[in-house]
Amino acid sequence: MIAVQRISIFQGLLNVAKRQNVAKCCIGQSLTSYRCLYKTAWLATSTAQPSERNIIIMGPPGAGKTSVGRKLSKRLGMPAIDIDDDVLEKAWLMPVAKKLYQVGGERFLEEEGQTVSDFSASRSVISLTGSNPLHSAAMQHLKKNGLVVYLDVDTDDIIQRLTRMKVNRIVGQEAGTPMTDILMYRKPFYERWLDIRVLCGKGDTIEEVTEKVLRALNRYDDSDSETFISTRSSVTGVGGSEVEPKFFSDVVVEGLAPDGGLYVPKGGFPKLEPQEWKRLAKMSYPQRACAILEQCIHPTDVSPLELGQMVRRAYGTNFSSEAIAPVRHLVRNQYVLELFHGPTASFKDLALQLMPQLFAHCLPQMCNYLILVATSGDTGSAVLSGFGGLDANARHRVGVLVFFPEHGISEIQKLQMTGIREGNARAVSVVSDFDFCQRAIKRMFGDAGVAGHLAVEYATVLSTANSINWARLLPQVVYHASAYLDLLRDGVVAFGDPVDVCIPTGNFGNAMSALYAKQMGVPIRKVICASNLNCVVADFINTGRYDLRGRKLMLSHSPAIDILKSSNLERFVHHISDGDSGLVRDLYTCLEKRQYFELSAELLHKINQDVWAGWCSEEECLATIRHVYSQTGYVMDTHTAVAKTVADRLQDQSTPVVICSTAHYGKFAPAVLRALQRESIPTEPLDQLQGFSLPGTVPQMHSALLQCLRESRSQPHRVCQADFHALTEEVEAMIRDSFLNVQ
Ligand SMILES: *Cc1c(COP(=O)(O)O)cnc(C)c1O
Repeated sequence: MIAVQRISIFQGLLNVAKRQNVAKCCIGQSLTSYRCLYKTAWLATSTAQPSERNIIIMGPPGAGKTSVGRKLSKRLGMPAIDIDDDVLEKAWLMPVAKKLYQVGGERFLEEEGQTVSDFSASRSVISLTGSNPLHSAAMQHLKKNGLVVYLDVDTDDIIQRLTRMKVNRIVGQEAGTPMTDILMYRKPFYERWLDIRVLCGKGDTIEEVTEKVLRALNRYDDSDSETFISTRSSVTGVGGSEVEPKFFSDVVVEGLAPDGGLYVPKGGFPKLEPQEWKRLAKMSYPQRACAILEQCIHPTDVSPLELGQMVRRAYGTNFSSEAIAPVRHLVRNQYVLELFHGPTASFKDLALQLMPQLFAHCLPQMCNYLILVATSGDTGSAVLSGFGGLDANARHRVGVLVFFPEHGISEIQKLQMTGIREGNARAVSVVSDFDFCQRAIKRMFGDAGVAGHLAVEYATVLSTANSINWARLLPQVVYHASAYLDLLRDGVVAFGDPVDVCIPTGNFGNAMSALYAKQMGVPIRKVICASNLNCVVADFINTGRYDLRGRKLMLSHSPAIDILKSSNLERFVHHISDGDSGLVRDLYTCLEKRQYFELSAELLHKINQDVWAGWCSEEECLATIRHVYSQTGYVMDTHTAVAKTVADRLQDQSTPVVICSTAHYGKFAPAVLRALQRESIPTEPLDQLQGFSLPGTVPQMHSALLQCLRESRSQPHRVCQADFHALTEEVEAMIRDSFLNVQ
């Protein structure tokens, strides 16, 4: 945890220009925008110019494709073409239903596809049939000159409409398949062709859907509208010149802004309407993630199609719960959001199974990238798992090397890291402490010799992937929304009823993403930040003073929130000051110089409208674990227990409260066993995990964690001496003999 945070701070110190020069020298051109590099490549493979292209309306039967198409054609002044009426019936000289009846479903699809492949148009609004997307060649043909807009309509709405319309000409229906199954079967085909999703709320009228399509088209074409700014920079830069706009791709690749600030979206967060949220309540986690993230990432940066692939890869079988982030009732008004079902058993997986894919996607193709991480906590294994899980293509040019201290890190975390052995993801232990690893990496970034050598010799750029990166924060918005949607789905709340969220807080990433979910329209009342005895964040939220003077980091049972500098907090300060970047700059300069800053009473008041905070002692933490277990049979990890303790103290029980469980108890086994007052605590991690194998223990043991420890125990890991040159040699060795020479 601290590792990540410190990296972000040193990244602010290092000269970003130098890094860009390195990139420049291997790309051979100036890097004004990563997106520009990407965009040109993208345009070359994509559809026609907006002035010539068709707008293609796709969706299930009964979605309103024809009616929306007609309205849209009027609004856009483009001719409307209905594939059913204007293409198929004209070509076949008979009604479509008759054709289907005559030839049967399979032949029908083929003939339909053939006919559409022979048809062409430009500058028209084309309404597809519900079955067109089942024919690949036809869709590829259409997509060459058109933008596919997917009307994503509620299944119940559709079935109602179809029953009302007495529709009987749907492929598949003749075999007696129920309509819901037909719709379910077809959904992946729609997801495969979409360029733009229009999420229709339950009961949306044709007019409302048409308006949404128009807005979505405008957004699509206005690819330069969604930009990011640094929390510390004004719109005009040095000498009053306009600061170059930064797009999603840029901020993902850059991480920290050149002025040391953090990137935030200039126009704030998009808001979903209540009707849209209600739609999401019925969806799976990956579907929710797609619908939410599509609103936050411009399709020019990541198309919905690509995003969908990434999301399915991130939140699939690698999670031990199909729900990905399930919500479980604990006691009274308290619910636990279980964020530990990912491959490395902490909530960091929720971000880090997706982030590397976004990162690899946004990187210019011309370079190889090696991400360097120093860690003594949960980040290491999550980063290794995330980058190690990239697809083969990306693995050849994006890798990660994690340095961790041989001593001063828990045995379980060490085994977790060394248990992951992918060609492009490697952990090396250093016979020194965390600070040494940290300093060595910092020196490599600052050392033009090292950077230049790697660029020239291997076309490789060094990079970081820390917790301030936008692509790490954004995926976390999804699970906060998802928790509310689960409560909505299960009837605990009606849409609009407020809930509180209680979070064990370190770098404020998790808390910040809850605040972003609130901005998107999730009815969160308070975000409650929970600290352990290192309570600088809780004190700040209660007093408005961020004061590091005389504070020392103390060891705790919840090491992931042992923190002094809470890096993402800067985003919150920027937000509550209405984007006053001058103020943010002054405050953080003050923090650097004087170890201290203080907010006005007015701003503190604003903070407390959204956020409360409290802290929990070591004894209380262990007592809570013991108490919850005896009361409910539920075992929680130490971080979750910190949140539970603070929720008990601060929450008034007038609303449900969602307690974020950020780690599986197995990950912090010694402390949890101690809390449960087990007689003797074994020294071997595997034996410690066995210590939980009492019947009826909830939640179950984390199988991937267990598996990883088993495998890693039998294998020796790489150990490196505490010498800068030894570490740089590790970097070079990694580049040479693992992922980069595959090309
Ligand atoms: C990283 C981590 C935290 C802290 O999350 P932030 O987003 O930095 O506030 C809390 N708990 C666990 C188990 C973690 O690994």
